[in-house]
Amino acid sequence: MNKKIAFISDFDGTISHEDFFDSVADKYLNEEALAPWKEYLAGNITHLNALNQIFAKIRVPETELVEFIKTIKFDKKFFDTIELCRQNNIPIYICSAGTDYYILKMIGDKIKEYNITVVTNHGIYSEDEGLRLVPPQENSPYYDEKVGISKAAIVKQKQEEGYFVVYAGDGPPDFAAAQIADVVFARKILLQKCIEAGIKTERFDSFDNVSDCIKDLVK
Ligand SMILES: [Mg+2]
Repeated sequence: MNKKIAFISDFDGTISHEDFFDSVADKYLNEEALAPWKEYLAGNITHLNALNQIFAKIRVPETELVEFIKTIKFDKKFFDTIELCRQNNIPIYICSAGTDYYILKMIGDKIKEYNITVVTNHGIYSEDEGLRLVPPQENSPYYDEKVGISKAAIVKQKQEEGYFVVYAGDGPPDFAAAQIADVVFARKILLQKCIEAGIKTERFDSFDNVSDCIKDLVK
């Protein structure tokens, strides 16, 4: 294939097995703390606003939170995919409606090593105020007022630069990106939404599937 390829992936539930949100909710948050999520699902507040209200309720010493983050499991096959991308000069993006706070603690060394561009909300933690998400500046090309970042804007920009985009995701914030990506690896809610919308998706048991697809594309 002569086209330039870009690889763009969601983080929570795609690279990691379980969302940070669910992990942290199970461990540290009660029903009352999680109430804003219902408000979000009812369409009353934004995704970003809900996460900020919920994550603000985390009250543990930061050392404990960091230790906990390091126990969150993720798909190690992702590392083979990024190695393959590096060998083929394929730019790698992680786009997340969550925050860099836990992404960097989980795989920060790989992000540096593989020159991965992380587009997400910045996260600041203090034991007194919990975890706060700070979205990119409003003039950022990736800014979105509802979730902080627009994954579709990243896909669109790479396509405008002439890239063939391979996208992997699992949730509602991935849907707009999946609608325009050239190849889509989808799990869970995203897979359901793609099936309903008639969007073609690839088998996605692990990042081995993504690696196989990239190997075919670069042949
Ligand atoms: Mg996700």
